Formats: sequence, C-alpha cells, structure tokens
Amino acid sequence: MPATSMDQLVNLCKRRGFAFQSADIYGGLQGVYDYGPLGVELKNNIKAAWWRSMVYERDDVEGLDTSILTMRKVLQYSGHESTFSDPLQDCKKCKARFRADHVKDGKCPECGSTDLTEVRSFNTMFKTNFGPVDDGSVFVYLRPETCQSIFTQFKNVIDSTSRKVPFGIAQIGKSFRNEITARNFMFRQREFEQMELEFFVKPGTDLEWMEKWKDYCLKWWEAQGLDLSKMNVHDIAKEDLAHYSKKTYDLEYQFPHGLDELMGIADRQDYDLGNHSRHQEELNLVAHVHKNPDSTAKLAVYDEEDKKWYVPFVIEPSIGVDRAFLAVMTEAYTEEKLPNGETRTVLKLKKHLAPVKVAVIPLKRNNEQIVSLAHQIKADLLKTGIGRVMLEDSGNIGKAYRRHDEIGTPLCITVDFESIEQSPATVTLRNRDTMEQERVAVADLPKYLKEFFGA
Ligand code: ATP
Repeated sequence: MPATSMDQLVNLCKRRGFAFQSADIYGGLQGVYDYGPLGVELKNNIKAAWWRSMVYERDDVEGLDTSILTMRKVLQYSGHESTFSDPLQDCKKCKARFRADHVKDGKCPECGSTDLTEVRSFNTMFKTNFGPVDDGSVFVYLRPETCQSIFTQFKNVIDSTSRKVPFGIAQIGKSFRNEITARNFMFRQREFEQMELEFFVKPGTDLEWMEKWKDYCLKWWEAQGLDLSKMNVHDIAKEDLAHYSKKTYDLEYQFPHGLDELMGIADRQDYDLGNHSRHQEELNLVAHVHKNPDSTAKLAVYDEEDKKWYVPFVIEPSIGVDRAFLAVMTEAYTEEKLPNGETRTVLKLKKHLAPVKVAVIPLKRNNEQIVSLAHQIKADLLKTGIGRVMLEDSGNIGKAYRRHDEIGTPLCITVDFESIEQSPATVTLRNRDTMEQERVAVADLPKYLKEFFGA
C-alpha cells in the first residue's frame, strides 16, 4: 500500500537522508528544502529519465540550459511583471495569510474566522540587485519558470540547429516563487525545479498535438511507477483558462494530502513568441500580446508551402521535479506484513530510479579477504554502467537489508566465508521485492546485473 500520510514520507526522507528542511539547525527556512545523499540520486534519476524520454528518444526535441538571473525586460514583456501575482487575504484573528482562492464560504482556512482583510495583490517574483550598485535601481528577477528563456532563445536555437516546425525545446532547472503559503512538504516550495518542454507546432495542428503530448506524458508517468488509476486528467473549463490558452490539461495525482496538480499541459497558442517579437502587427497573432518596442527579433518561421511567415503555436508540458519526486515516493512507499508477523518498510521504486542500484555487503568487516573481495566486486560492477553501486560495511547484515529495503535498493550482494573459500567464488544475491536469495558466481555478476537493470 502506498504512503497514506505525508508524515510517513517526511519521516522516511529525514531518517534515511532523502530531504531535509533548509537551514534545519536554525529552525528552518519555510518552503525551502535541501536534498540529502539519497534524495540527490533519486532526483537526478528522475531528471535523467525525463531527459532521455523527451530529448534522446525523440527526433524532434533539443535541450537548453539557460540562466536563472533574468533580465527585467523578459518578464515585463512575458506579462509576468504585471500579472504574476496571487490575490491574498489575511485573517485578522489568527494572522494567517492565504490565497483568496483558498477561502471557502468567506472563512479563514486556518481558524474559521470570517474577519478577513480585503483581497490584495501579492507579486510572487523574487528580485535581486544586479551589478555593483546596491540601491535597488538595477535589478534582475530570479526566474519564476524556466520556459521564458526558451522563447527568448527560440531564434538562436533555430539558427544554430536548422530545426523545422514541429519541434521542441526542453529544459530542466530551478525556478523561484515567493508563494504565500508554502506547504505540503515539497509540493509547494519557494525554490523548486521544473522540467519544461515547449513544443512548437503549426497553428491548426495544435489540438492534435495536445492529445499526443497528454498520452506521451501519461505513458511516461506510468514508466516512472505511478498507478494511472490514481491520476486524473483535469480538462480545465473554458471559463477558467488563462486568456492566452486555448486548452489546458492538469494531470493530477493522489498525493497524501489529496488529489492535486502534478503537471500541466497547455496550448498557449502564439502568446509567448508573439510577446517577445518585434513588428507584432505584421504577424497576424491570435493571442492578445504586450506591445513590444524593445525586441530586436521576429520570432516567426517561414512556411515554404504558404510562402509566408507565421508564429508557431506552442504546446507546453510542464512538470515540477519536486512534485515528481513526491509522487514517486508516495507510490513506492510500502509497509508489508511478513509471514513472521513483522512489518517491513520497503520503497518499491522502479529500478532505474533507485538511488542505489546494488549494495555490496561484506559479512565480516574485520575479515580482510572478505572486505577486499567486496571492494573488488564493487569496482567491477561500477564498470557495467548500471549506476551507483555502494559498499555497505555497517557490519550487521540484518540491519543492512532493512536499510536497503527502506531506501529502495533493488539488489543486495553479500560476500561471506563461502565466497572466499570456494572456487569459483560465489555470493548471495538478495532481491528487494521478493526477498528471495540465490547464489551467483562472482564472474557472472556483471552479465546478471546488466540484464536485471536493462543496461
Ligand atoms: P499551482 O496551481 O499548484 O500553483 P501552477 O499552475 O501555478 O501550480 P505552473 O505555473 O503551471 O503551476 O507550473 C508548472 C509546474 O511546476 C506545476 O505543475 C508544478 O508541478 C510545478 N510547480 C509550480 N509551482 C510550484 C511550487 N511552488 N513548488 C513546487 N512545484 C511547483
């Protein structure tokens, strides 16, 4: 059974080193998390799986890695400076602050009081000084999403790769939003990471591409271990769509705190490229854009068939890496009753996501021969390219198995007396999910593991 409460995950994350609150020793920075020794591995594996699926396995997507510091003009013309704000209300009784759209029946979501302030606007972008002057006159923003620089670099990417529509640009990176209420562990943070794809298509083919991307994304989530019956495709009602969006799907997942947004897929038409283009009046834009006298580029492509320039529409599948992390952890978390009456906690992560692929455990940490064979096996297995292979020499085999069940290590290899006494040398291989153990020759390990991990 997957995790049913956020506490189970928060505890496991802290106890085993997946995630900690930032500046924990000073009481913690609200809504900001640090990933621990295992968290960094899991997060990297999620990002690698996405990159592989979006960029390597397709023939129509390129990658980018752009700066976090963002020129003010970019976020002026994108519309963020004037609109990227949350309507907020304060409770006069308990002093809580929350988003106005989180208020139900005019009551404070914390204490139920009806004594609330008027709705006010709260800009959620972080800004910081830029250059040597410290008086706030020259500032940049920390980007609130990764995609704006994909639009501003659109022409450079086309010119340097000769890509033709339809094609996409993918990016993974940090984003920052001064959320009013950061909550639910890493679900809503003030510093988080996104995996965003901007897929440019010819107007008129956009709705077709929306369906393709929805299906592609659902398949991807399934491959990361999510149970699709716990996901919901929320087709946003017309009256709730942003003014530039023709269609938006929120892909929701049953998190421990309830069904909530895991990712969004939006048909943003020509709004973004249009916003950042010069000579907008010549482009027949359908979106209502911000007048732009500053851009030096026409972000359009030439249609060889129609013999005219047009601005591609964009389909945007956008994922929060931290929400992906939380969903994958929720799904993998399992408490299992064993035949002997005990309960074990096991993280049934997909193999490619597991932070540690194989733990090599010397049965006796003070037996030089056993330890040296374990080192040798670890070094040899690392060469197979399956990922992190770890030497686990904490000494107690029972504890080691429990720890590796809890962190999701698919296989444990134990080097014991038989391993050094018998020829050919063999080891015990223990499977996380079945807990079955088998004896395998050391010489066969690389082949066995390559097959097991599909490397
Ligand atoms: P929400 O409605 O939950 O505030 P959003 O609709 O504003 O999210 P987008 O701007 O569409 O979110 O961002 C795309 C994705 O980035 C979201 O689906 C989510 O996975 C992730 N994301 C957005 N804000 C945060 C945050 N504060 N913390 C963690 N992930 C976030």
